[in-house]
Amino acid sequence: MSFTIQNALILVESGYETVAVQVVDNCISAIDPNLEPSGTVIDAKDKLLLPGFVNAHTHSSEMWQRGIIPPLPLELWIAELYDFTPLDTEQIYLSALGTAVETLLSGGTSVVDHLVLIPGQELETIAAAVRAYQEIGIRAFIGPLIQDESLTAGMPAGDTGIEHAAYIRSTQATLDLMKSAIEQFHDPEKGVNILLAPTGIQLCSDALFQGCIELSDRYNLCRHAHLLETPAQKQLAKEKYGYSAVEHLKQIGYLSPRTSLAHCVWLEESDIKIMAETGSTVVHNPLSNLRLGSGIAPILKYRQAGVNVSFGCDGAASNDGQDLLEAIKIGSILHNITDLDYRHWITPRQSVEMASLGGAKGLNATDEMGSLSVGKKADFVLYDLTSLSLLPRTDPIGLLVLGRPTNAVDSVWVNGKQIVAEGKVTTIDVDNLRRELFDRSEGPSKRQSPMVSEIESHYRQVMKLPGYS
Ligand SMILES: [Zn+2]
Repeated sequence: MSFTIQNALILVESGYETVAVQVVDNCISAIDPNLEPSGTVIDAKDKLLLPGFVNAHTHSSEMWQRGIIPPLPLELWIAELYDFTPLDTEQIYLSALGTAVETLLSGGTSVVDHLVLIPGQELETIAAAVRAYQEIGIRAFIGPLIQDESLTAGMPAGDTGIEHAAYIRSTQATLDLMKSAIEQFHDPEKGVNILLAPTGIQLCSDALFQGCIELSDRYNLCRHAHLLETPAQKQLAKEKYGYSAVEHLKQIGYLSPRTSLAHCVWLEESDIKIMAETGSTVVHNPLSNLRLGSGIAPILKYRQAGVNVSFGCDGAASNDGQDLLEAIKIGSILHNITDLDYRHWITPRQSVEMASLGGAKGLNATDEMGSLSVGKKADFVLYDLTSLSLLPRTDPIGLLVLGRPTNAVDSVWVNGKQIVAEGKVTTIDVDNLRRELFDRSEGPSKRQSPMVSEIESHYRQVMKLPGYS
């Protein structure tokens, strides 16, 4: 199978260039202004061709609760999230499809799904997400979300001596589960990759981290986790280890060039150095950090220290959408207020590189994706430069990143296969998906989370907030 995209505008160092891009099988075989077309010819006149972005951190099943959780910090927000997560595998399938559609239509060709597992149906949960991603054709990196401590352990204890219930599954049983998941589902050739993804230091023992390191080494898989998302987690890390969580993760060997860490809001200068030395990637989720009041990650400092940074939407219940271009915009301009020296600010071209090559780097996949280069997989996106939101004709990249692009994605290819054409996903029936999402949800409801009521006063106490009882 081969095709040629003609007259496509691409980014080059000096500006823009109009080229033809040839794809043979599933890889880019040539990029040249004067290429003889072969195979099917696609005219990309008035269109911009960019490498696909990576939605480098999300939790697809949170889609069922987007827009409903009140303004709360992570520790209380997550209690409400868990109280109302009675999901079945069909819902997992549908929200994975929904997450993929929104990612594709905002420039993403890969998604990292830190997938919340239904207790007792863990492998079935993963199977449902795999089915969705393979049907729609997005490149999937699924990190089954695992932990071995119960939710209340994720909050600092302060001097309250709080006790936590045991977690529903033993550490060894969780590691056995991951081994089965890897053997059953990891299939990069078919676009499905499994990641080792303990949720983070707040809910995981060293034994769990070490088991994950061992599995990632044995099967050559990437590692993922949340890291220091909130002030409470920073306090918890001090209680747990007596020193920084980043130092601890380094000591146990979790950090590496194939480790990506979501959030990284509360790192010290010495931690940033460790992130750079170990080649670890920061996944920046600006909308989630704002929504949950987590803080502003020191992204400009990471970049100056040489730490790789990519973008994620985070789960749709803390965002409350899955628009990657929106995350890229906010995640780029947010930091201008943190540094007076505008020479450190992120330019639109740098944003695009972080979202594509930065995303690929965090998944140890720069040989295969992240840029328009001969030999790499054909994972790319055509943007319609005649879309009203990208007009008038000024600087396409400036408008794409700093503007508010709507209906700008014209076509998407993943692994050489076209899965979006004329702004529409062609591999699944999106009208049917819309109907299913509508019919399987109830609309506005008054609900109160029992777990939030239970833990709120403890949270207010340890965070030294007024009025706790
Ligand atoms: Zn997350």
